Amino acid sequence: RKTVATMAVAALSLTLAACGSGGGSGDGDKGTVGVAMPTKSSERWIADGNNIKKQLEDAGYQVDLQYAEDDIPTQVSQVENMVTKGSEVLIVAAIDGTALGDVLQTAADSDIPVISYDRLIRDTDAVDYYTTFDNEQVGVLQAESLLAGLEASGKGPYNVELFAGSPDDNNATFFWKGAMSKLQPAIDAGDLVVVSGQTDFEQAATLRWDPATAQKRMEDILTRSYTQKDVQGVLSPYDGLSLGIIAALKANGYGSGDKPLPVVTGQDAELASVKSIVADEQYSTIFKDTRELAKVTVDMVKSIQSGDEPETNDDETYDNGNKVVPSYLLEPQPVTKDDVTKVLVDSGYYTADELK
Ligand code: BGC
Repeated sequence: RKTVATMAVAALSLTLAACGSGGGSGDGDKGTVGVAMPTKSSERWIADGNNIKKQLEDAGYQVDLQYAEDDIPTQVSQVENMVTKGSEVLIVAAIDGTALGDVLQTAADSDIPVISYDRLIRDTDAVDYYTTFDNEQVGVLQAESLLAGLEASGKGPYNVELFAGSPDDNNATFFWKGAMSKLQPAIDAGDLVVVSGQTDFEQAATLRWDPATAQKRMEDILTRSYTQKDVQGVLSPYDGLSLGIIAALKANGYGSGDKPLPVVTGQDAELASVKSIVADEQYSTIFKDTRELAKVTVDMVKSIQSGDEPETNDDETYDNGNKVVPSYLLEPQPVTKDDVTKVLVDSGYYTADELK
């Protein structure tokens, strides 16, 4: 026997179910979360976007996921739209960490909380939380792997070249700082020789993380500084750059005859680079599990929406110029050929078939 109350509940849940699957603009569900990603030109951001979208949808949210193809005005207008359309929360991986202050202020004025995703948004109060990996540790691991690979390759001193990421990405300076904490002492001791002499961040930086820019710089360095010498190691902060660097090296005869490819590092465990590692070309990468980053970010959204304080585990490292942003940091993992199966296949990040 149904009471009026249970019938009303049943009718209400039918209505809720209908709204939830109908793709409407938020009534009856938990509302829309705006997700702004930098570019589809790198696999990792595609994985990030997909993981966040799926996890938010599973939790009952609608998702407005946008990519800006590394164009700053495009990203600004995408975020503007998300604010206008009344997102519940914004999740933003910035192209230029300093370019979003104005538009995020409009979000703050509309009481829309902002989570800075992977890359710190700088010079604004209008950022509430930050989810990322321990970025300085990424650089430390890259440098340690470079040094280990060099030692395994024979006796030093070793000729090395240094690449950094995009100067408008706050992460790039953290990666560099972590790496140089290990490499500078070895340079000072004469164990590493940067033959080009380009040891400043500004000289090593690669605007927009562009692989072609890194390839060109590697070619220029080989032409100018390595006519009489071989390069034995290259610090590369991101897999896309590593592939560009390796292409330049191969075009200059490395990887054949008696000229082995140098030890080249990377980051993100992108498929092409993992294959390159398996093929003994790229030496290492740093795995950052985007499924985990999505999860801590989605957990934050849920906490914010239910009025709870989101969990953070680092409330002092990430000063964005205006404020210290409460952060959740995940641990990056180094990967060389020996770890590919254990770290990337056993965890289900790739199937063994994908790596063939
Ligand atoms: C990310 C890296 C990525 C790089 C280039 C950085 O902000 O933390 O994982 O390799 O951007 O996309």
